[in-house]
Amino acid sequence: MVVELISVGTELLLGNIVNTNTQFLAEKCALLGLSMYHQAVVGDNKERLSEVIRTALKRSDVIILTGGLGPTEDDLTKEVCAEVMGFPLVEDAHTRERIEQYFKNGIYKEIPENNWKQAIIPAGAIVLDNDNGMAPGLILEKYGKSAVLLPGPPSELYPLFMNQVYPYLQNLQPELIRSQMIKVCGMGESQVETKLLDLIDKQTNPTIATYAKTGEVHIRVTAKAADEDAAKELLKPVVKEIRSRLGDYVYSTKEKETLETAVVRLLQKYELTVTTAESCTGGLVAGRLVNVPGASEVFNEGFITYSNKAKRKRLDVSKSTLRKYGAVSEETAREMAAGGVFASDSDTCVAVTGIAGPEGGTEDKPVGLVYIATYMKDKVSVEHYQFKGNRAKVREQAVVKALDLLRRSILDNYR
Ligand code: ATP
Ligand code: MG
Repeated sequence: MVVELISVGTELLLGNIVNTNTQFLAEKCALLGLSMYHQAVVGDNKERLSEVIRTALKRSDVIILTGGLGPTEDDLTKEVCAEVMGFPLVEDAHTRERIEQYFKNGIYKEIPENNWKQAIIPAGAIVLDNDNGMAPGLILEKYGKSAVLLPGPPSELYPLFMNQVYPYLQNLQPELIRSQMIKVCGMGESQVETKLLDLIDKQTNPTIATYAKTGEVHIRVTAKAADEDAAKELLKPVVKEIRSRLGDYVYSTKEKETLETAVVRLLQKYELTVTTAESCTGGLVAGRLVNVPGASEVFNEGFITYSNKAKRKRLDVSKSTLRKYGAVSEETAREMAAGGVFASDSDTCVAVTGIAGPEGGTEDKPVGLVYIATYMKDKVSVEHYQFKGNRAKVREQAVVKALDLLRRSILDNYR
């Protein structure tokens, strides 16, 4: 079954508001197993709106329109949709009563005349009571097609959709869609695709899609099936195969688990404490760790040692190392990691030093050069990267690599 979304509102076209309704509805429709090939945004204009509705009804089974159900002149979704689909408009006594009730309970005593407009409905439409506003949702059914009309404000649309439209669509569409996420760090998107090429080539159900994120690749495996169990059975072998091909590059198979959550989970598992020694990332690595609820179990303190003096004073990086190799060097990164462990009495430390730019680069040490080190079980692991992009991008990538080196070091040393 094919569904299409139509967002109505000139403010959407002008970029005054972000179209969050579409994101919400698209995600829910996917979960329902509906196919979606088109989404449209159209202003508060009768001719253009009716053209969009006509087109959508030709190619889709269900169209969902949002916005333009209110009482004002520019709200014309209901009127236009009724006209296109050939429904006369009539007053709905039940909705009229709800509007009266709404005003009785509210702060306004006078009912503005234009509010009664919201009690006018296409004759025979299914009325979806709106508990958070006055304009009801509506479903118009004709020739095996459905038009679902929902108010624009998300606080009204979300509950209306979840409580009344979702079950309605579920009834129309017996299949469901379930997906499983596989999150990868330390491998680029094309590398991941190469490893999975034969699987991707022959995919039908489940499907495999890769998404590149900063320093990460997310793989979504999606199955369509009659019920939850059947979907799980379809997903299981494919997910298992992908995991075995990507090994430790996979840091999580949970939708909501971030890289820092995975790191904190590992630290908790092996009962380790960690500290951070950061130069160019200025506390961002610590910030990511502290994002995770329960981080206090594993993280006591972190160091932001931006100047050479701070690196010496806080982390005991030797003067001669700084002089001989410079602050951005493998040697300094090593001493920062070791120094962090001793200064904080932690089990492990992750250290970052690099040149985020835009200034400060040289021929030997260009902007984007970053050294990352971890200290664990009296051993230091160091990696260096040459990141591309502006200052923010370099720092963002450094943070991801730092968290990932920490993750891999824990696996190497404690598993
Ligand atoms: P109202 O009765 O409030 O006029 P309505 O159904 O007529 O509701 P609109 O007038 O189109 O809807 O939009 C009202 C408000 O709803 C907008 O100002 C905006 O805050 C929110 N809104 C509308 N469409 C969207 C959308 N696609 N995504 C997010 N918010 C939206
Ligand atoms: Mg409106």
